[in-house]
Amino acid sequence: MSNHAYRWVGWLLLLICWGSVMTAARANVVTPTIYYQSTAAEQTLAELIASPAERWQEIPAGEAVQFGYTQNTYWFHVQAPAANHDRILYLGYPLLDSIDVYFVQKGELLNYSHLGDQQPFYARPIHNKNFIVAVPTHAEHDIYLRVRTESSLRFPIELWEPVAFMQAYQNQVVATGLYFGLLACMAMYNLFYFLVTREVNFLNYSIYTVLIGLLIAGLDGLGYQYVWPNSVWLQDRIVTMIGAAMMLFATLVSTGILQTKTQSPRIHTWLRLFMWIYAITFVLSIFVPYGTLIPFVLFVAVIGSLYMLACGIVLWHKGLIYARIYTLALSALLATICINALGYLGLFESVFVQRYAIMAASAFEVLLLSWVLAIRFNDSRKQQLKLQETLNYQLEDMVAQRTEELERVMVRLQRANQELEQRSNEDGLTGLYNRRYLNQEFKREFRRCVRNGSVLTVMMLDIDHFKALNDRYGHLLGDQVLIELAHILKRNLRRASDTLYRYGGEEFTILLPDTDKVGARELAYQIATAVREHEFDTDHGPLKITVSIGVAVAAAGDYDQPTQLLAVADEALYRAKAAGRDQIRIIAEPEPPATSPSE
Ligand code: GH3
Ligand code: MG
Ligand code: MG
Repeated sequence: MSNHAYRWVGWLLLLICWGSVMTAARANVVTPTIYYQSTAAEQTLAELIASPAERWQEIPAGEAVQFGYTQNTYWFHVQAPAANHDRILYLGYPLLDSIDVYFVQKGELLNYSHLGDQQPFYARPIHNKNFIVAVPTHAEHDIYLRVRTESSLRFPIELWEPVAFMQAYQNQVVATGLYFGLLACMAMYNLFYFLVTREVNFLNYSIYTVLIGLLIAGLDGLGYQYVWPNSVWLQDRIVTMIGAAMMLFATLVSTGILQTKTQSPRIHTWLRLFMWIYAITFVLSIFVPYGTLIPFVLFVAVIGSLYMLACGIVLWHKGLIYARIYTLALSALLATICINALGYLGLFESVFVQRYAIMAASAFEVLLLSWVLAIRFNDSRKQQLKLQETLNYQLEDMVAQRTEELERVMVRLQRANQELEQRSNEDGLTGLYNRRYLNQEFKREFRRCVRNGSVLTVMMLDIDHFKALNDRYGHLLGDQVLIELAHILKRNLRRASDTLYRYGGEEFTILLPDTDKVGARELAYQIATAVREHEFDTDHGPLKITVSIGVAVAAAGDYDQPTQLLAVADEALYRAKAAGRDQIRIIAEPEPPATSPSE
């Protein structure tokens, strides 16, 4: 069974319990035959007692007085049989304005009481929400009642044994206590909910619950007994005033639950119009007498409620899930309001059913509305969460996109940087490493050799009479020669660790790690021979050049600084030039400053 079904069963049980509590223990009650006559003119009791029997009309035993709204004064006559116990006379309708009760025995007035809600509550002989008078005798006698009221004239007249009444009444006390307890809980709970969530629908609902409680308390007489016992003024207006306010808040709650503002602006406009009417009615109820205003209040309340019910059905058909529960809640209440309206108009018998059906139905409605309100709030919260989630996703997507873009830019930047660095280490003409890079690499290689205790050889190579070549054939040709020479040199380097640099102009440097004197000499000869024998392919036909080579070989510890080694290589080159060019000179050991050149 679904969760919903459990809830329905729960409420059904609640209603059944209510009904059984309310209907139990109505034994030991005497509901006598009532004779009545209505008069426009005032009559004395004596005149009435003397009036002929045919002037009296009969309400059969077991039935209640049901005249609806009337301005007339009514006389009632009840014949109380003899009894062997105390009795009370009970008039079960708390809104009667004025009641005169005469106990007459054999034509003599035994006792007289004046009741009605036009006197302060505590002026009553017996403090009860309804009207009760102690019957003064066990003997057979007559009771005459003179009743006048601006509200509906309807009440049961009953004679009770006090203990039985107390017992029967206990159940009513429990049931009504349960009802008002429920309303108070719902009102407080929703008020707290409002304070926490700041969702104004909960506040409206809380106020609505309080108002419906006050209205029912007013109709039931408990309001006069406990809430405003000294205010005849308020008691006189409770139905019109609280009724109008209650309808105002019922409509407010409806707009909240049905979301009419977004679901149907037309319905929303109409509901707002109704709210204005209720607000105006509320203000009017302060000044206009109850009797004048009540037909209007009943009319707009019924029309307004029917309209709300219609709204619920329309929006239900439009697919709004809240509208379904709302409609159910409202229709239960409306059904009982209709029963009550029929009762007020004197068309429905049981006051008891009317009073407690409206209590049960309003409790039912209050519970259902609270439930639907909670569902709606939860749904809108879920929607908000969903929205937030999609927003988050969108944000994450955006961030990911931006990050990707940024990464792409970074990669491009990195590549550009690498290229730039390479360019800065490269010679533009030959594509070889340049002198800047040599300085950097040479230091590192020098330190590595010192660390490893290995040999490092530096070879310096310079084209012979290059200036003359340039002068004769032009720089362009010189460039071609330089480029081709670079190729030759590269081709002659075998080891991966051998590196060729353009030192500047027509000078080249080759770093040869782990290469000793023998190896260096061999390579120098190989290069010199290769250059000498190569025919350079130029615009001016084939061309031949020679190079001079200076070599410095350093064992670990021979030199302190890399620049010293470079200077020695330079010195070796100088010597090669001085020896007539196309020569190789090798300096394999550090020389004292003043010695003559070797080899
Ligand atoms: P030596 O045999 O003594 O080395 O004589 P040389 O003429 O080769 O030497 P010198 O240092 O007197 O002249 C070098 C010339 O190299 C000067 C310059 O015109 C030329 N040169 C330097 N760099 C370049 C270059 O990038 N392209 C060209 N075409 N010529 C260059
Ligand atoms: Mg030179
Ligand atoms: Mg030269």
